[in-house]
Amino acid sequence: MVTATGYAAKHSFSRLKPIEIERDPPKANEVQIDVLYCGVCHSDIHQCENDWGNTVYPCMPGHEVVGRVSAKGASVTKHEVGDLVGVGCMIDSCHECGPCKAGDEQYCEGPNSWLATYNGPMKPAAQAKTGTNMYGRDNTFGGYSDVLVVREDFVLKIPASIPVEAAAPILCAGVTTYSPMKHWGVKAGDKVGVVGFGGLGDMAVKIAVAMGADVTVFTTTKEKVAEAEKLGAKGVVEGDKEASEALEGQFDFILSTIPEKHKIDPFIPLLKHDAAYVSVGALAPMPGWNHMPVIMGRKSIAGSLIGSIAETQEVLDFCAEHGIAPDVQVIPIQEINEAYKKVKSGDVRFRYVIDSASLAQEKAEAA
Ligand code: NDP
Ligand code: ZN
Repeated sequence: MVTATGYAAKHSFSRLKPIEIERDPPKANEVQIDVLYCGVCHSDIHQCENDWGNTVYPCMPGHEVVGRVSAKGASVTKHEVGDLVGVGCMIDSCHECGPCKAGDEQYCEGPNSWLATYNGPMKPAAQAKTGTNMYGRDNTFGGYSDVLVVREDFVLKIPASIPVEAAAPILCAGVTTYSPMKHWGVKAGDKVGVVGFGGLGDMAVKIAVAMGADVTVFTTTKEKVAEAEKLGAKGVVEGDKEASEALEGQFDFILSTIPEKHKIDPFIPLLKHDAAYVSVGALAPMPGWNHMPVIMGRKSIAGSLIGSIAETQEVLDFCAEHGIAPDVQVIPIQEINEAYKKVKSGDVRFRYVIDSASLAQEKAEAA
């Protein structure tokens, strides 16, 4: 067995604390990864606090992982010991269903769904069984730890030009915003709206600007208007009626990253005919909207889940090619509970990333 140390929540209202876990050593098609950095996604907080009703405890989050391959199984061909690699939200899927065959593993329809990097299997609460996953373990444990073991096909290559710590959030925040932009065909010259300027929003703006889009950020935080402008976007404070009215009928695509249920009525008039409002943030029941303008303009209200493994590699390469990376604040893992509070209060620019060396240091001090 591979003994790993990490931080986990023991129940929905507990602070994250160090625990030791055992991981199976790499099978023939798996690699072992020494974790260097792990991003702190708002989903980690939702999951630890059981906002989606499907959390299995102890919950050890972390699905924006960058590390180095430290061992590999006999049949591994894609990665070598020493390679700088990444792991996102998935570590396996059934490989046999329609979505898997189409390269959309994140929509896997197999009996266990796709295997989430932590808290796997990722089934909605109603379908969740007892929390056992396809490995027969109680749960999967994520990247808030020093070691991961992952099937080679679900391990990404990190381009050398991206700063290592900044590469981590691309594995979730990057692909979750890139995938819908690609799916809905965002192209140069399009007018793109980004609602909610946090960890995902930061990546959405940078990717859309790099695609040549004309980007407007809708934010509840006045100071972020100037921050959007620094990235080549415009900023509108949500609820600014005058500014919103001036933008009616102009947007080809709006991506919302608001982490909670919210009213979408204010955004529908901003869409052009045939355009889509895609919410990736609110994994929750949403209030209804006035469907009249949706019908009149053949508009779409839609959702999107992370992105495929191929898209994750694509967005990493896209970021390298365009010289973009998330804005990150690196923290030791001992500050994770404080970081969660700051993410919830919107007090982070724009993504906390855990430096896993802090785990090794803690372990050494305890020894
Ligand atoms: P952050 O907290 O970093 O950013 C969210 C931003 O939304 C905030 O910075 C704030 O921006 C705005 N916001 C927060 N609360 C509200 C509110 N009540 N009303 C309006 N705006 C609000 O979160 P992340 O970017 O990490 O994640 C965003 C959401 O996306 C989370 O719910 C997460 O679980 C989900 N997610 C979904 C994925 C998917 O596959 N669909 C994958 C990854 C994450 P501002 O200050 O600009 O208003
Ligand atoms: Zn995430």
